Amino acid sequence: MEAIFIFLYVYVFVVGACIASFINVVIYRLPLGISVAKGRSFCPTCQHQLHAIDLIPILSWITLGGKCRYCKAKIPVRDTLLEVLGGLLGMLCFYRYGINWMTLISFVFAMILVAIGMIDLDTMTIPNSLIIACLIVTVISYPFIDLSIMDRIIGFLIVSLPMYAMNYIIPDCFGGGDIKLIAVCGLMLGWVHLLVGMFIAIVIAGSYAGYLMLSHKVDKKDHIAFGPYICFGLFVALLYGENLLQLYLGMFGL
Ligand SMILES: [Zn+2]
Repeated sequence: MEAIFIFLYVYVFVVGACIASFINVVIYRLPLGISVAKGRSFCPTCQHQLHAIDLIPILSWITLGGKCRYCKAKIPVRDTLLEVLGGLLGMLCFYRYGINWMTLISFVFAMILVAIGMIDLDTMTIPNSLIIACLIVTVISYPFIDLSIMDRIIGFLIVSLPMYAMNYIIPDCFGGGDIKLIAVCGLMLGWVHLLVGMFIAIVIAGSYAGYLMLSHKVDKKDHIAFGPYICFGLFVALLYGENLLQLYLGMFGL
């Protein structure tokens, strides 16, 4: 029995890394307006078409010594780290839900969030197509996440509406993409888990911004991309929101 589980975890890691490899293509192509479905992968430096042997997640990068086979330009280590992350996230989702549709749904959600987080980090925008992808996951996950319609509607509005209103007082205080992402994920997770996710996002983003300001790496006027923190918070909230909430309330004896 144990051998089967080890095999399954290895299998899930490999599938996760392969899908993350595709997500790298999305992260690179979507902001440039290049179709993610059409055309073979090519080296961004020499434009040489890449063959299957160059595209094996993680292993190609190791065997090629982190360089393009044709022009020897460095392949960003981030691409490979994201493939490792994809494998690990796949294993985490499998660990959390086991052989269940939620494993697949939570993993797809995680991969979309990785794409959103990385594109927001690179370009400070979140493509609408990825928000729509989150909306599709919300619809597909509907029968598997036990929430009332009211929980979902409140989730849709509880954070997005105040953020939207804040933008009237301080223009561009929040990115439009962030607001849309939070609204859609509120619909999926319900308001309680959305608040757990936002709490995690704010604590981590706030600590990081505080560190940057104290070390004079940025000043108050600089924007930091909030998207990656929101994505992290929302994913944790989906998987372990309930446990974290109980833990938090337990600290106050509730
Ligand atoms: Zn090249």
